[in-house]
Amino acid sequence: MPSSTTIDPLSRRSFLRWSQGLFAALGVAPALPVFTARAETPNDSDDYYAKLGVDTIINAAGTYTYLTAAIMPAQVQRAVAKAALHPVVLKDLQQASGAYLARKLRCEAALVTSGASAALTLATAACIMSANNCRPDQIPQEVWPGKDHPGMKSEVIVQKAHRYEYDHAMQLCGARIVEVVTIEDYKRAFSPNTVMTNFFNSAEAGEIDRKTWLDIAHSHSVPCHLDAAADMPPIENLWKYTGMGYDLVCFSGGKGIRGPQNAGLLLGKKHLIDLANENDSPNSDAVGRGMKVAKEQIVGMVAAVDWLLEQSDEANQAEYLRRANTISGILKDIPTLSSEVFMPEIANHVPHLILAYDPKVVGITPKQVQARLQTMRPRIELNPATGTSGRLGTHSNENTIVIGTWMMQPGEAEIVGQHLKTVLSNPKA
Ligand SMILES: *Cc1c(COP(=O)(O)O)cnc(C)c1O
Repeated sequence: MPSSTTIDPLSRRSFLRWSQGLFAALGVAPALPVFTARAETPNDSDDYYAKLGVDTIINAAGTYTYLTAAIMPAQVQRAVAKAALHPVVLKDLQQASGAYLARKLRCEAALVTSGASAALTLATAACIMSANNCRPDQIPQEVWPGKDHPGMKSEVIVQKAHRYEYDHAMQLCGARIVEVVTIEDYKRAFSPNTVMTNFFNSAEAGEIDRKTWLDIAHSHSVPCHLDAAADMPPIENLWKYTGMGYDLVCFSGGKGIRGPQNAGLLLGKKHLIDLANENDSPNSDAVGRGMKVAKEQIVGMVAAVDWLLEQSDEANQAEYLRRANTISGILKDIPTLSSEVFMPEIANHVPHLILAYDPKVVGITPKQVQARLQTMRPRIELNPATGTSGRLGTHSNENTIVIGTWMMQPGEAEIVGQHLKTVLSNPKA
């Protein structure tokens, strides 16, 4: 066998000629170096967190993007590893996974996107194409008015209270946001330039409810997108909003659905999902080209939906509550400490443990506890609402520790309880 150093100086063709001659002379089958994709159990040399010196954490926060959100269930991890073994034609996989998900999730059509934010961008591009009858390569530069073109229909109507960081995902397509407050504002806001409306499902404020919002848009024949990115559980949300008539609905794949973190779902009407698809990778002259979803993540997303549909919301909630009770039980003797379990209404609709105490008596503030837990091993990340007011309505303030229990793994609630007890009992350590 020639070593690679002897191959390098030769061109590929001359190597082939040379090697064929050699194999013919030797009368043996070519044994060229081959890449074999293996699906073995990971061993220590595969542990790149260790190699890179990046600490793994106990996630006592929730499905936060900055904490890499959820861990995929074992059956999803296996499906991802299996998908990595073979190439496929990407468009075939996109089409087949979309059709499968649409059947399972009771909607006309579905697309696996690189996350909810990408789903919102592709939804916007689809609505711009639908309203203007334009091509993907015109978005966004011909959507904006320019010296040599008038610009296109590009208005997206949004309630003022629903403005959020993800507006950027729509603006990426050249869309302009038209803010409304009252129902009267909303009715007046529709114009020939309107391409879609966006409803931020878990917004806590806003005068117009989601049914009225939808009905008024549809009376103007304008499609509605609903952002339900973090609104899992309950499982039925996967068909609730498309079932109500929302034309497009997005979910984050890596939050409560527990798929790959860089995946998401866009669900809805077939003609719009088809247009979203035209704006997506692998099409290159398109706004979604950089929002590629690899075969592993497409398969992982489908496998995560299959996993989720086998789950019971009640059983999961009971387990999250058990973890909360385990932690509060360990801390029961900390002076002034009281505990409450709080379920946010729509996004992150799971039990959160809120521990309130008097920092003057205990000798350490919740923010200081949070910082101490980050220096201990294993490193523990508390919910970012810890020590702040306003993030969980009136349920958190500067005197509360907030814990999301749903992303913990078996045995971790006990560790979190013990470490919290150590810190709260030794405030000056
Ligand atoms: C998390 C989130 C997103 C973004 O989801 P990704 O899957 O990370 O892109 C969009 N909208 C809302 C309301 C979210 O909570």
